[in-house]
Amino acid sequence: MLRRLAERFRDRLGPESVIDDPVRLRTYECDGLTYHRASPGLVVLPGSAEEVAFVVRECVEAGVPYVARGSGTGLSGGALPRTDGVLVVTSRMRRILEVDPDNQRAVVEPGVINLDVSKAVRPHGYYYAPDPSSQQICSIGGNVAENSGGAHCLKYGFTANHVLACEIVTPEGEITTLGDGPGYDLLGAFIGAEGTLGITTKITVRLTRIPQAVETLLAAFPSVETAGAAVSAIIGAGIVPAAVEMMDALAIEAAEAAVACGYPADAAAVLIVELDGPETEVASQFARVRLLCEEAGAFEQRVARDDADRALIWKGRRSAFAAVGRISPAYIVQDGVIPRTALPEVLADIDRLSRESGVRVANVFHAGDGNLHPLVLFDDAEEGAGERAELVSGAILDLCIAHGGSITGEHGVGVDKARYLPRMFTEADLDTMQMVRCAFDPPNLCNPGKVFPTPRLCGEIPRVRKGSPDGELF
Ligand SMILES: Cc1cc2nc3c(=O)[nH]c(=O)nc-3n(C[C@H](O)[C@H](O)[C@H](O)COP(=O)(O)OP(=O)(O)OC[C@H]3O[C@@H](n4cnc5c(N)ncnc54)[C@H](O)[C@@H]3O)c2cc1C
Repeated sequence: MLRRLAERFRDRLGPESVIDDPVRLRTYECDGLTYHRASPGLVVLPGSAEEVAFVVRECVEAGVPYVARGSGTGLSGGALPRTDGVLVVTSRMRRILEVDPDNQRAVVEPGVINLDVSKAVRPHGYYYAPDPSSQQICSIGGNVAENSGGAHCLKYGFTANHVLACEIVTPEGEITTLGDGPGYDLLGAFIGAEGTLGITTKITVRLTRIPQAVETLLAAFPSVETAGAAVSAIIGAGIVPAAVEMMDALAIEAAEAAVACGYPADAAAVLIVELDGPETEVASQFARVRLLCEEAGAFEQRVARDDADRALIWKGRRSAFAAVGRISPAYIVQDGVIPRTALPEVLADIDRLSRESGVRVANVFHAGDGNLHPLVLFDDAEEGAGERAELVSGAILDLCIAHGGSITGEHGVGVDKARYLPRMFTEADLDTMQMVRCAFDPPNLCNPGKVFPTPRLCGEIPRVRKGSPDGELF
């Protein structure tokens, strides 16, 4: 079947847009989460929405599953291909179709790299606000699918707050647009659906004006608790920084080894606090932030003097995930959410878990919005080390849930965290979510097997849950 599809795709898309050579297919066998791997049955690289629609219709007719892929930087295995399926890669769809500064919007194809949007609109005085640390390589299509965040999402919001419309190819192969009219918020359902509700082929994004002033502070603390207290004090004072990021000693050590960012070596934790906005407001709030950090126990404060200085401060944070490779042969990048106020308690619990298990954990996080990224280190050459790291990683998610948080803040569920969903949701909740998926994707061929721990065919979902006292309909 795949061989026949390959021929059909070559005829329509051209031979250079179809890959079925086993060696070349291996390039696509995983995303940023490398321990889930599968070689795709076939890879196609369409160049337009019409070509994507053609590919999807052919797959549906043949009953073959398909998975969309942007840049493959996802950290939950969302773009993990199927050996019996087609991987639809958007890297040939990289045109910025329109820049409309008067209406503060731009229209881009899904394969456009996040940072390239800002580069294209900067001459007009704008930028694209959502800034995942992977923004030099990840695609806008992938950002939409994951509802990606970033350091500056504390003030500016996630991808969902910056996407005005999406042209999509529905799971049955029709081209339609979401987000341009009244009715149910189907765009809201699509953003963050991790590629299970169709493939986006054109995205209208909101542009944000470049702020008049930016101030960036690197503050060093004697403990993570004092750094956490500074975060609470800043937010409690009614200040909304553009970003508040925290790194603990192990994460600082890794960043230093990788990119020599010059963070104070004796700090148990550092905070990066960035303020932006009108000049006078930023100046007065920045002075207040510095005072609050000092009162919380900061023993060193470094203010970025210019853009080069600012870039160096951010370099350590942005490289933190990859940098951990310098101090550990292998690691799990975890992603969980807790209420900001629970930060000191949860960090103490993570430290306890680490000491009891002997598994080292480096902490990097968006402290302002309680989005933790514990990096669980292990040596993959050591027998059982991976399993021990997995246990610690799962226990951290339990801590997040116990504090009223979530098992993911921005990296998605994908294939990796599907097994954790029942810790947050009942079976009825999950069935209700799958009814949404079925409304979009009756053939169940669009990125199947992702997100849900108990994938169901559409006809299998009970509309009335047996045993509910009033035969509750949902
Ligand atoms: C070093 C590093 C740092 C990171 N930092 C952050 C961070 O700060 N914040 C953050 O949120 N994430 C971060 N990530 C995770 C990742 O970069 C984001 O999830 C990103 O949005 C994925 O984009 P991508 O183009 O690589 O998507 P892929 O990995 O290719 O795909 C991700 C998901 O999107 C789906 N998809 C892709 N294209 C489409 C499309 N056109 N239509 C429908 N579905 C589609 C795929 O099926 C898959 O489910 C980081 C990753 C790395 C490796």
